[in-house]
Amino acid sequence: MHPMTPNLGQNECATLEDAVVLGHLIGDSVLIKRHVIGVGICTSFERYGKKRRWRTIGMMPLSSFLCDFVEQMGAGIAGLATAVALKRVGIKALLLERSDGLRATGAALTLFPNAWRALDALGVSHKLTSLYARPNAAYVTNLETGAIQEVVFAGNNVDGGGAPRSVHRKVLLEALAEELPANSVRFSSKITTTGTITHEGSSIAVVNMEDGSVIKAKVLIGCDGVHSVVASWLGLAAPVHSGRSAVRGLTVFPQGHGLKQEIRQFVGAGRRAGFVPFTDKDIYWFLTCPSPAKGTPGDPEVIQRELIDNYVKDLPEQYLDIVKHADLSTLTWAPLLFRQPWKVAFGNLCKQNITVAGDAMHPMTPDLGQGGCSALEDAVVLGRHIGTSFIQNGGLVPGDMPRVLGNYVEERRWRAVWLITGSYASGWVQQGGSSWAGKFFRDTIFYRFLFRKVASVMQYDCGKLPTVTI
Ligand SMILES: Cc1cc2nc3c(=O)[nH]c(=O)nc-3n(C[C@H](O)[C@H](O)[C@H](O)COP(=O)(O)OP(=O)(O)OC[C@H]3O[C@@H](n4cnc5c(N)ncnc54)[C@H](O)[C@@H]3O)c2cc1C
Repeated sequence: MHPMTPNLGQNECATLEDAVVLGHLIGDSVLIKRHVIGVGICTSFERYGKKRRWRTIGMMPLSSFLCDFVEQMGAGIAGLATAVALKRVGIKALLLERSDGLRATGAALTLFPNAWRALDALGVSHKLTSLYARPNAAYVTNLETGAIQEVVFAGNNVDGGGAPRSVHRKVLLEALAEELPANSVRFSSKITTTGTITHEGSSIAVVNMEDGSVIKAKVLIGCDGVHSVVASWLGLAAPVHSGRSAVRGLTVFPQGHGLKQEIRQFVGAGRRAGFVPFTDKDIYWFLTCPSPAKGTPGDPEVIQRELIDNYVKDLPEQYLDIVKHADLSTLTWAPLLFRQPWKVAFGNLCKQNITVAGDAMHPMTPDLGQGGCSALEDAVVLGRHIGTSFIQNGGLVPGDMPRVLGNYVEERRWRAVWLITGSYASGWVQQGGSSWAGKFFRDTIFYRFLFRKVASVMQYDCGKLPTVTI
């Protein structure tokens, strides 16, 4: 009878009202007035129609325009973390997610100290640090010479700094989602287009859903990943293929893997492979290699066979064994995409009251493991800028949002440019050419002297959220 946008949270409430009014009128007709069903029932329906018509018509325009919400597309790391940051400063956000549940593609990821600082600001880090330990060491093996180098993480032993920790993606997403009020995420809600309209002199974001419904909000943050609908509305260039792909998977040894908690990497001949034992039973592993953008296998059994037959058979037995025992449900093979840094440096990262965060803003190759970490930073910075305006104005003022989002973008723009560039360069050096000069640069200069400098991006502190007094 009355589909409406969820901004007043009245959809289910109004449905319950309908049921009671309908029950009351039909009951009154049949039980009290003793009408025969079929005669008096028509009168009951007419009375029901009259009674509900004006109540729901009153609700719908209100629901469209009185939204003090921030709408976010995508319930990935960026979307959930931003919703948590906004909640901490007193703002309710609605997440629109096209999948029917939380998506944890990639099985696990590694979070560096910058991410842990962001998770600290969001009040979530303690839930994960109690589950996952830091690795004791990291080693890189040169597949051609057999030489092994230890990687020293800058800031080790410093509180909050030092070595990374890997976590299950699902556990990270759930730790964030748990912080949000019920119904904050609307699953199976695919956004097709976005735009803005002017309402009482201010810009309002408009989101068109695949099911034909339209949602309006004071702020829209596109956290919809690498193929972002919002980024394309902003006019940002589409991500490009790096010429490489990545295979990721999880291997679980129910009786325990018995390995030391050490990160191992193997580089050479255009490949970079590695594994991280991150709990007593779970090992996260990966391989990056040159490949065309199209034609990567999707079937996990084909991926595993392809790897064993063509990509990893010359790697140490330990790595091969991990791949052979992979949990097939976690195996993925994906082309590595990134947005050219100059397109981020000079592109529109926000327009009026619409912006982007996470991969929607800065898709990058995973060579520094910074995509998810920087999405968490984005969330805290967004929460700080929007939250400060919210606290100062006693609510979300649409007219102030272009300034607020502009400040957020300026804080993030050059960091994003540097991360995309550093990740690409790092990948190029680590698995690039097999020429004598390339090898010399990688083995003698990059790992010995430059890696520490590049890796210093992992020590970044995105700051805290403003304190709200209630
Ligand atoms: C091989 C590989 C290894 C990586 N390793 C690491 C690592 O170790 N550490 C690290 O920090 N990062 C790593 N990353 C990067 C990290 O995975 C991403 O940067 C991170 O997942 C981005 O999060 P996001 O929320 O921005 O996007 P996503 O995780 O892509 O989330 C976007 C969400 O939006 C939803 N969505 C998309 N379109 C729509 C729509 N139209 N309507 C509604 N919903 C929509 C999607 O369903 C999805 O849930 C790695 C990436 C790769 C490819």
